[in-house]
Amino acid sequence: MKTYHEPACDLPVYDECDVLVVGSGCAGHSAAVAAARAGCKNIILMERYGYSGGDVTGDYVLMVPKLSWKTLPFVRGIQEEWFDRMEKAVPGSTWGPRMEDIGKQDKALMFRWQHKMDTVSPSEPKMLVRSVYFDGPQLEIELDLMLLELKDRIRVLYHSWGTKPIVEKNVVKGVIFESKEGRKVILAKVVIDATGDGDLFSQAGAPFEHLSDGQTRSTNTTLAWRVGGVNTDYLLEWRYSHPEEWKQLNAKVNEITGLSGSAPCWDEPNGNCLVFNRHSNKDCAKIKDLTDTEIDTRKSIRQVIEYCKQACPGAYKDMYLLSIAPQTGLRCSRRLKGEYVMSPSDWAFATKHEDTIAWHSTICRINDCAPIEIPYRAILPQKIDNLLAPGRHVSADEVSIDWMNLIPQCIGTGQAAGVAAAVCIKDGTGTHDVNIKTVQDILVDQNVPLPRNPRVDKAYTELVEEYQYGLYTELAKKARENPEEFKKYRQG
Ligand SMILES: Cc1cc2nc3c(=O)[nH]c(=O)nc-3n(C[C@H](O)[C@H](O)[C@H](O)COP(=O)(O)OP(=O)(O)OC[C@H]3O[C@@H](n4cnc5c(N)ncnc54)[C@H](O)[C@@H]3O)c2cc1C
Repeated sequence: MKTYHEPACDLPVYDECDVLVVGSGCAGHSAAVAAARAGCKNIILMERYGYSGGDVTGDYVLMVPKLSWKTLPFVRGIQEEWFDRMEKAVPGSTWGPRMEDIGKQDKALMFRWQHKMDTVSPSEPKMLVRSVYFDGPQLEIELDLMLLELKDRIRVLYHSWGTKPIVEKNVVKGVIFESKEGRKVILAKVVIDATGDGDLFSQAGAPFEHLSDGQTRSTNTTLAWRVGGVNTDYLLEWRYSHPEEWKQLNAKVNEITGLSGSAPCWDEPNGNCLVFNRHSNKDCAKIKDLTDTEIDTRKSIRQVIEYCKQACPGAYKDMYLLSIAPQTGLRCSRRLKGEYVMSPSDWAFATKHEDTIAWHSTICRINDCAPIEIPYRAILPQKIDNLLAPGRHVSADEVSIDWMNLIPQCIGTGQAAGVAAAVCIKDGTGTHDVNIKTVQDILVDQNVPLPRNPRVDKAYTELVEEYQYGLYTELAKKARENPEEFKKYRQG
């Protein structure tokens, strides 16, 4: 490969702060908010695009799954705050089983929600699960408002691209970034890499993995698009009454696009529908894979619309293209190989950790979606200090990453990273020496239930003990006997 020698030069220091968060997806945004609420007064949140939310708002991700298990809401904190705030500001901007319905076996309610993925438990007895669908643009506004409320503590730099960490003797000291104003530097005591692709930890010298397994859900990229004018009531009824025709229609859509995905069917209350496609085996940190995803999606949209109008006019005759997502949806590329690497064993054996920062019910069926403990070490890079890495590039192996890079887990690890950074600043410690007990207590104050914490309602522990963490499901038993079985339980 040809090279070009870039001459050394002095870069202007744009700003200095205690905590610099790079990337304002759901993980980075939560990290900045949580750090501010934990008392840190000098935070910068840097984002390459002009809005927060990353994948969630930028690629029309529409649903947050499995916030509850059996009768209790395990995933709370900033995740539930999103929905509280949206409902207060714009009633009806979220939908799905409500908090008070969690665990109910009410047939009418289950019938109402059953066509919405993840709203009813997969195992018997069937019960309602808190999974929330929401209005993306309203969330985009709300995320800005959350930052504005903390503007005395958080300075937001949109349109700024973090390009290189500044590392001295294995300690991160800041980040070089690019913007319309040129190349500049921000100095920071703690840096949170929330870029989703490990843009910073990969250059800082921290060990990391590439996504090597093409079978995983995480190697799919997606450019979502949205249509209006769909008769969604008719569509729902038709899908159930004509399953063969619906299957054929989808097969033809996949043939037209050359991708896997479906015809427009992810309905929103306003009659709009979302369309997701899957470009398999793509690395979302590669220019070519990103470019191909965008161009290959756009080139087939008109054909799909025309075909659907003819194939099912009752549902689609008035359908029109409303919008195409502003960015490609990214699931995984580089993954941190942190001080702890999450693996399917954590689900099959319900591993307990001293440094648990989130206790989450997840989409994994091995343990019947029972809560698992996520340790601080899963966001803590090896070798490098004062750098944390929450979000979809969290330290997890190539199987369990599919259960760890969902929105709740990105927010949960982001919120914990923010609190940990604030505690490091207050105590004057590095990220490897953080007082984890203080971190856990602050997280509990921030409405995050954690195991074995005396201030968390005993009902949580009693519930998981009663059901033995879902450890004795047939799937968990099989998976424990033969680890190869784990691979079968990836979520498609
Ligand atoms: C099509 C699709 C459907 C999905 N469906 C669901 C679902 O239904 N439910 C669910 O829970 N999860 C779903 N997911 C997964 C989930 O949305 C993501 O894993 C999660 O939102 C990732 O959050 P994050 O903050 O870690 O990363 P991202 O959302 O990728 O955020 C990273 C942020 O950092 C910014 N950034 C990146 N690099 C830099 C840089 N160098 N400098 C500055 N800024 C930078 C990006 O612009 C972005 O805003 C889906 C994902 C996709 C792609």
